[in-house]
Amino acid sequence: MNLILLGPPGAGKGTQAKRLEESRGIVQLSTGDMLRAEVASGSDLGKEAKGIMESGGLVPDEMIVNMISSRIDQKDCANGFILDGFPRTTPQADALDAMLTDKGLKIDHVVELKVDDDAMVERITGRFTCAKCGAGYHDSFQKPQKEGVCDKCGGTEFTRRADDNEETVRARLKAYHDQTAPIIGYYDKKGVMKSVDGMAAIDEVTKQLEGAIG
Ligand code: ADP
Ligand code: ADP
Ligand code: ZN
Repeated sequence: MNLILLGPPGAGKGTQAKRLEESRGIVQLSTGDMLRAEVASGSDLGKEAKGIMESGGLVPDEMIVNMISSRIDQKDCANGFILDGFPRTTPQADALDAMLTDKGLKIDHVVELKVDDDAMVERITGRFTCAKCGAGYHDSFQKPQKEGVCDKCGGTEFTRRADDNEETVRARLKAYHDQTAPIIGYYDKKGVMKSVDGMAAIDEVTKQLEGAIG
């Protein structure tokens, strides 16, 4: 099964994608995570993306499309994948369509996590991640059971993203509404669009999501 999770920064795409990885045996493909890895490695792509990501803008479509295309060709995607953070523009959605047709694949469901923008600032500024295993947490909404210790791997180091500050979040929300939200209509026309209440508690969102994809 191949899925797309749609929603603004903080909607819960990463949180839910990790749960679907476990329940469905399919892999999360987060273009944000891939770009952060490129930045950390100091690659040419990373150098180009760094400043754009820090300002909350979108990196060029072509860069992202090539990155995702080679990732989908890797063996671990054979069972299916969850696109998290891609596509983010209409040209990206068109390119994805052409690419999947080429590879003999298709998207089964696109699920929008519907949320209020106002709540996203609090979600984003409280977000942190286990440095060892990547498990996601929140200062108020998803604390580790034992403070300072990752539930999943026992790691004790956590990281916060450089772009998870209020100013950048506002720019990212604007980019979402201007450039990403229009693709909802695109998938609606194809008859694969579903939506769930992303303002509900994390477990409830998972329940609705599992129901939506059958
Ligand atoms: P996205 O990948 O869409 O940017 P995340 O999954 O990283 O969003 O979630 C953003 C933050 O909000 C994280 O700290 C996460 O723990 C928290 N979070 C995710 N879903 C919910 C929810 N339904 N209710 C409250 N907090 C949530
Ligand atoms: P979010 O928490 O907003 O969902 P992501 O981790 O998905 O954040 O993305 C972080 C940043 O990486 C974005 O603000 C943007 O600069 C860049 N980025 C990620 N995916 C894409 C994409 N598909 N197209 C263009 N830029 C992207
Ligand atoms: Zn961990």
